[in-house]
Amino acid sequence: MRACVNSGSRVKMSTRMTHHDLLIVGAGLAGMRAAIAALTHQPQLDVALLSKVHPVRSHSVAAQGGINAALGENDSWEAHAFDTTKGGQYLGDQDAIEAMCREAPADILDLERMGVIFSRDERGRIAQRPFGGAGFPRTCYAADRTGHALLHAMYEQLLKRQIRVYEEWYVTSLIVDDGACRGVVAWDLLHGGLHAIGAKAVIVATGGSGRVFLTSTNAVINTGDGMALAYRAGAPLEDMEFVQFHPTTLKDTGILITEGARGEGGYLLNTLGERFMKNYAPEQMELATRSAVSLAIGQEIAEGRGVDGCVLLDLRHLKRQRILERLPQIRELAIEFAGVDPIESPIPVRPGAHYQMGGVQTNQWAETELPGLYAAGECACVSVHGANRLGGNSLLETIVFGRRAGVRAAESVRGAASRLPSGGTLELEQARIAMLMANKGSERPWQVRDELGKVLSLHLGIFRTQKSMTEAGDKVRELKARATRVVLQDRGNVFNTDLIQALELQALLDVAETIVAGALAREESRGAHYRSDFPRRDDANWLRHTLASRTPDGPSLRYQRVTVTRFPPK
Ligand SMILES: Cc1cc2nc3c(=O)[nH]c(=O)nc-3n(C[C@H](O)[C@H](O)[C@H](O)COP(=O)(O)OP(=O)(O)OC[C@H]3O[C@@H](n4cnc5c(N)ncnc54)[C@H](O)[C@@H]3O)c2cc1C
Repeated sequence: MRACVNSGSRVKMSTRMTHHDLLIVGAGLAGMRAAIAALTHQPQLDVALLSKVHPVRSHSVAAQGGINAALGENDSWEAHAFDTTKGGQYLGDQDAIEAMCREAPADILDLERMGVIFSRDERGRIAQRPFGGAGFPRTCYAADRTGHALLHAMYEQLLKRQIRVYEEWYVTSLIVDDGACRGVVAWDLLHGGLHAIGAKAVIVATGGSGRVFLTSTNAVINTGDGMALAYRAGAPLEDMEFVQFHPTTLKDTGILITEGARGEGGYLLNTLGERFMKNYAPEQMELATRSAVSLAIGQEIAEGRGVDGCVLLDLRHLKRQRILERLPQIRELAIEFAGVDPIESPIPVRPGAHYQMGGVQTNQWAETELPGLYAAGECACVSVHGANRLGGNSLLETIVFGRRAGVRAAESVRGAASRLPSGGTLELEQARIAMLMANKGSERPWQVRDELGKVLSLHLGIFRTQKSMTEAGDKVRELKARATRVVLQDRGNVFNTDLIQALELQALLDVAETIVAGALAREESRGAHYRSDFPRRDDANWLRHTLASRTPDGPSLRYQRVTVTRFPPK
């Protein structure tokens, strides 16, 4: 990989190609789980991971509240599947939901064997807290730092198996040859330079795209790269219009205040000091589904019962000891970023962009429409979350479908001959980057990114209408053109974050155009997609998945039936 050449103004690129049996793009929970599963299944396999940040800096590390599994004596995987289906407003594919909920308990025990230290109940069993939309307390947790506990345990397993990781490498394109995915083109951040890495199969596990919105609970690296990579390579994106707004984020920063805070008994209050959820969901109150609570908060604020653009999350009655034991990180975040100590005062919160229910379309075994390409974790749409994800189901998805992706991809490459792709993609990517490096304009990548974030926050937030989304669509088209002309101040090779941001911006824009197109076309309200001009759910016409494929003129949409097994839509 050292044979990097720099010819005149051309971008450095390697002339030698490395090859692996299986290459996984993304080293969050889904990617690492896939690597471990592939090697457990086929110990001789040459598996490598590639990540734009060090694995333990992946966004999974930020997960707070927990991971779901029906472990309780009176709970059942069928009840978990029902809650998931209902919470997703019947848009999830029930065969995939059943697989996830049935396999969850064994996966949690596997995680524990791998070294995850879950919080315990008074009898010493894995403790479980109630979460929104769940009929039973089935969210396992490690205080309010569950993602941290999971990701570090998984990383230890990676080290134990000495799995090769390309740390701080950025994938710019998938290599598609003869109708199949045969590797990636990636930029080595530390040294600069483009490299082609061949593989018999590729799994994308690149996480979410929350950064299409201006404020979001997501890390700044969550730019939807994998969704854009697959979309450009010809694999459709599914149900992209369904973006979850988490009800409780801090006002200015968008930092998440976990649902676990309400699971532990926290209340939501309006400016009148009233627990307003009684007017929206009298039975579930604060633990209604996220889309229901976000809409309620949005309405309270819109009708003048908010507090400085927020409502209040009151934890004071939980008392000091419980807050310190169960929600220590939440307390720290509230003190640091909102200046309030929840032991003494309520926390001002408002809904914020949090999670992409859509993603690269896959079946239950993480296979996409493009042979050789698999997807798992938040970047994929299996689809288990339907129109609204239940808290605690996303970590579960990364584990169950990361494992399934690893197993299926390992099976598919067994005995397959290595085949070096015929090239071409590397040169195309070199030309794309050379063009960016040579741009002479004055607009910087962050300016376009900021504008995109504002437009989506304004027009594709919790309330949507045809008029405002049409405006957003026009703007996204304009920004796409501008994004190719942005000017880089850093034209060097070593740790060129300016270049990476320009590439991420192009991914964000591809993702944004599919969100807008899907949302404009879907003339109903369901889960996280609420249209003031079509306020009702319409099963007769819209109980179907949106599939967006890329064309030179923007996304082309088609629709696919939802799989219903045991729970008919109600
Ligand atoms: C603040 C917060 C709290 C959350 N809390 C919970 C919770 O309590 N329970 C729950 O179920 N869910 C929770 N979620 C959601 C859940 O954490 C995520 O959906 C899940 O962790 C995503 O995991 P992943 O493996 O798919 O992706 P990530 O963990 O995001 O990893 C993505 C990986 O892809 C790599 N990557 C991306 N693009 C490229 C590229 N172009 N080239 C190379 N590498 C690339 C990154 O470097 C990274 O390694 C939370 C999310 C947030 C933001």
